[in-house]
Amino acid sequence: MFVDQVNLSIQTKLFFQSLVNESTQGVSVADLDGNYVFVNPSFCQMMGYSEAELLTMTVFDMKAPKQDHASFEQTKTVKENLIVQVLLQKKDGTIFMSEVIGRNIEVDGQAYVLGTVQDISERIATEQALLNSEKRKSLIMKVANDGVWDWHLDSNLLEFDERYYTMAGYEKDEFPHSFQEWEKRVHEDDIVHAKNSFQSYLAGTSSNFDIEFRFLRKDNTYMWIQGKGKVVERDNNGTPLRFIGIHTDISVQKEHEEKILHQAHFDSLTFLPNRFLSLDRLTIACNEAKRNNELVALLFLDLDDFKKVNDTLGHEVGDQLLIDAAYRLRHVVRSVDTVGRLGGDEFIIVLGGLKSAKEAQPIIENLLHQFRDMFVINSRELLLTTSIGIAIYPHDAKDSSELLRNADSAMYAAKECGRNTYSYYTRQMNECAQRRLAIEEQLHGALARNEFSVHYQPKIDLVSAQVMGAEALLRWHNPTLGNVPPDEFISVAEHTGVIIQLGQFILQEALKQTAIWQQTYHCDFQIAVNLSPRQFRDLQLIDIIKAILKDVEVMPASLELEITEGVLLSGHSHVKQTLEHITNLGIKIAMDDFGTGYSSLSYLREYPFDVLKIDRSFINEMTSSYKDKALINAVVSMSHALNLKVVAEGIETEKQLQELKSLHCDYGQGYLFSKPLTVIEMTKLLSNNADITYTFDI
Ligand code: C2E
Ligand code: MG
Ligand code: MG
Repeated sequence: MFVDQVNLSIQTKLFFQSLVNESTQGVSVADLDGNYVFVNPSFCQMMGYSEAELLTMTVFDMKAPKQDHASFEQTKTVKENLIVQVLLQKKDGTIFMSEVIGRNIEVDGQAYVLGTVQDISERIATEQALLNSEKRKSLIMKVANDGVWDWHLDSNLLEFDERYYTMAGYEKDEFPHSFQEWEKRVHEDDIVHAKNSFQSYLAGTSSNFDIEFRFLRKDNTYMWIQGKGKVVERDNNGTPLRFIGIHTDISVQKEHEEKILHQAHFDSLTFLPNRFLSLDRLTIACNEAKRNNELVALLFLDLDDFKKVNDTLGHEVGDQLLIDAAYRLRHVVRSVDTVGRLGGDEFIIVLGGLKSAKEAQPIIENLLHQFRDMFVINSRELLLTTSIGIAIYPHDAKDSSELLRNADSAMYAAKECGRNTYSYYTRQMNECAQRRLAIEEQLHGALARNEFSVHYQPKIDLVSAQVMGAEALLRWHNPTLGNVPPDEFISVAEHTGVIIQLGQFILQEALKQTAIWQQTYHCDFQIAVNLSPRQFRDLQLIDIIKAILKDVEVMPASLELEITEGVLLSGHSHVKQTLEHITNLGIKIAMDDFGTGYSSLSYLREYPFDVLKIDRSFINEMTSSYKDKALINAVVSMSHALNLKVVAEGIETEKQLQELKSLHCDYGQGYLFSKPLTVIEMTKLLSNNADITYTFDI
């Protein structure tokens, strides 16, 4: 052994021996030819040889193939330590990287080379892995929109990497380095949340730090940032000292999210809040009102005759009309109020924070006013009115869904009041709504159950005092609801579409009966049948009428179809075409209920009417109101000038009859002569008066 060979005192030798033997590093001493003269146990273990084996070997035997000997030669000459990394080969053939600190030593005048050897293969592997992961990280950072921040909590100094600056559009160092400066750029709506997140994470209340906030770019636009971070340094008390993390630009992702959110909450046609969001806002408004002791007015709007516009002018015009209507609604209310589209032509307006219900009144009137102006679509002028139902929270309902139901009922009531008006909710309306629902239920399948029949109200020629025909009127007897008047069920049937089958039924029944009466009693017997707007829009209408007339062998001239102004309001050419088609077939057309609604005399010129029926409300008033009488006079004169016959509806008194006669009204209908009759009663009436002279004294 080397220590033995060197001439040192025994204690010194033993001391050195124990030092090197306990060292975890490999220690070897070789002579200048490279022969080992000393190896410690760590070196033996490292190389896999025994001490005895090594002492017969040289340093060159330990080197991996292709390793040169330059470093050994160099060590012989230099005074200071020479540190080299050398690949060594173990006894079992495995090669590993070592770090050798070599220097020459002189013992008793003889030169040796001392080598301290360390296996650094693990260290290198770790370094490599670290390098790789760093590389990967920086690659990810470059590809992703990430910027790194490093917050020294004790000094409040914030440092950022370059990517952070580019992300926010700033030049390096143009950016604040203190937290106070940085937070100024966080959106005011997000700063509280951001600070709370920092604090609760740093205080250990939350284990994860993950926030989203808006941050001001240099160009004064905001970007959405997602922040994640971790405390990497704490003092002895565990107080965080350093907080490091990344910020990712998630603006694009947020934009998508917002788009999706918008689609889920806003109507894509009018951009108004959709049903979901509107009702949500209504609930919030009600809750707020409850807290503040205030009121909410809910306005339920339905555009009048919108379906007709859609059906006759097409969906594109309908859509444009909805967009324009939404615009008008939006501009009537305060910016804090919600205007939402529930669907179709139904809108709601939520007026919150009211001290009294009266505050809603000017807005409601303004709304109706707004709809007085024509809508201009594709250079066509259209009049579109709206019916408004109003319910007040908490007077009319205990919660938002009840409020909505009641405002809806009030809207129906407004429609029944003749449309283009508003109606406040009353408790009776609820009953009406329930009644409507019951009617709708019972109407389903009622025709197949034979619950319908036709009654006939005689029409009298006021000059000859003869029954010249009758108006066919539907009657419905339902086992649950009893007798339901047409004024109640026709509108529901219109709404559900059942009116199409009902219309066919009455045409068939009335014309079949007309054929019998014409053959038996009166060859000129005229039958008038009411046509609802919905039927009028049915493209098969004309073919059906033609088929029935042919089937029952009744001349088209014996049929008179009564339509109301509602049909004409849309002003579409289709209406005119159908009316002309009907006229060309020889069928007569009557304008029913003249004097209600708009009663535009221009319609009489524009469309091919044969008959005008003055509404019974006028007849009712004519004996007491000079104005009504004058109006009837004008209408009769004008109709005659246009070659139209005039029918007065609802004649109940002798006085009315006399006045109508003096005004040269052509025909009359009313309780004075007869109520609507069953087939049997009508047949009896006709048979009792073979000469068809009416029995009443007229
Ligand atoms: P309308 O076409 O104006 O029919 C006249 C209504 O006035 C009938 O009511 C009739 O019974 C009533 N009336 C007749 N004379 C008098 C009178 O002297 N005094 C009073 N107070 N009323 C009188 P009804 O049968 O209840 O029908 C109401 C409405 O229902 C009709 O008004 C019509 O618009 C509709 N309707 C009835 N049947 C049908 C039908 O088959 N199809 C369609 N689409 N609508 C129908
Ligand atoms: Mg009628
Ligand atoms: Mg009428």
